[in-house]
Amino acid sequence: MNAALIEQRQALADTVARFAEREIAPHVEAWDEAGEFPRTLYRQAAELGLLGLGYPEALGGTPAPWALRLPLAQALARHGASGGVLAGLFSHNIGLPPIVALGSPELQQRVVPPVLRGEAIAALAITEPGGGSDVARLRTSAVRDGDHYRINGEKTFITSGVRADVLTVAVRTGEPGARGLSMVVVPGDAPGLTRRPLKKMGWWCSDTAQIHFDDVRVPAGNRLGDEGAGFKAIMDNFNGERLALAAASLGFAQACLDEALAWVRQRQTFGAPLIERQVVRHKLVDMQMRIASTQAWADALAERADAGDASPDWVAQVCMLKNHATQAMQFCADQAVQLLGGMGYMRGMKSERIYREVKVMMIGGGSEEIMKELAARQLGL
Ligand SMILES: Cc1cc2nc3c(=O)[nH]c(=O)nc-3n(C[C@H](O)[C@H](O)[C@H](O)COP(=O)(O)OP(=O)(O)OC[C@H]3O[C@@H](n4cnc5c(N)ncnc54)[C@H](O)[C@@H]3O)c2cc1C
Repeated sequence: MNAALIEQRQALADTVARFAEREIAPHVEAWDEAGEFPRTLYRQAAELGLLGLGYPEALGGTPAPWALRLPLAQALARHGASGGVLAGLFSHNIGLPPIVALGSPELQQRVVPPVLRGEAIAALAITEPGGGSDVARLRTSAVRDGDHYRINGEKTFITSGVRADVLTVAVRTGEPGARGLSMVVVPGDAPGLTRRPLKKMGWWCSDTAQIHFDDVRVPAGNRLGDEGAGFKAIMDNFNGERLALAAASLGFAQACLDEALAWVRQRQTFGAPLIERQVVRHKLVDMQMRIASTQAWADALAERADAGDASPDWVAQVCMLKNHATQAMQFCADQAVQLLGGMGYMRGMKSERIYREVKVMMIGGGSEEIMKELAARQLGL
């Protein structure tokens, strides 16, 4: 990485840290209790250029390499310490890329700029009640009806699903299996579309929805690419999502270490601060060791992506990095809660929230088991 890029990364991380410490961290507890964060946060993030990072200028974004996009997710996770905010505020980063890659120019201009300005919310809807890992078997159907499609089916666990103004939906337009899948953009206010919020273990302030499609009509021009192009679009999209999830997990692991370190420096037991105990220092080193290895791996894969590498080995490494990063987050959350003692179990502590939020990082965007299977296949094992 060249010196200019390193400087840019640091400047971006500092900006994001200030934003997260001022606009997110002090409010997260109240937002979690309320079950949502304010829509105004999208505009605030957009004004700083955070929503548009990595998108083409023609659509209102700022092109940026992965070497800059990952530190954004990492710094927001570290300093905002809320998976719910991160998932909701950046749900467009899974909803929009298929539109940018495959949508018609007219559709792109209509849908993307308002989202990057923070005026509209985008979501991605793939998972169904019948299963999420086995994408090739999804059942929501889109049947051609003149110059429209009629969509029927059900999606579940959809981030920003209740509030979304635009949904990128995986549908079956053809034969059983992967080759029968397409992606289509559905407006949130389309007649026949109903949605209800779901309650969950963590990510309380993030909107997670069950969505029902009852004869929802959308223009055929809302399809992304050709009929049957959906499976590849979904898989390509997953690589970026998994990199971002790894970077966020790294940030959450750091938030746990930061909180634990501050605590053990001031907490006295048996006449001395906790940090003076060897066993405590070793826990901190074990956390740091996982953070450092995740950081190095994420940086290396970002650099490879920015050099145009999308080889099977790179895809396998992304899968393994996602597992490594989420395991690092899980380890650090567990150690931090332990070091904080009873305080670690109390609401309002970052580590308590992150401890509740780690499982979704190990399930969403491709579960740990699926990551291993995919890595094995890509590595030819
Ligand atoms: C809070 C939250 C937000 C989410 N947001 C979105 C979203 O915005 N959009 C979206 O489309 N989806 C979203 N998801 C869904 C998520 O991507 C899926 O939950 C995930 O892909 C797993 O699918 P599943 O829940 O159907 O589990 P299943 O596929 O039923 O799997 C259940 C378990 O079996 C394991 N398993 C499955 N197949 C195998 C196998 N062959 N070998 C070994 N083990 C296997 C899995 O690893 C998992 O542990 C979200 C989920 C959550 C919890």
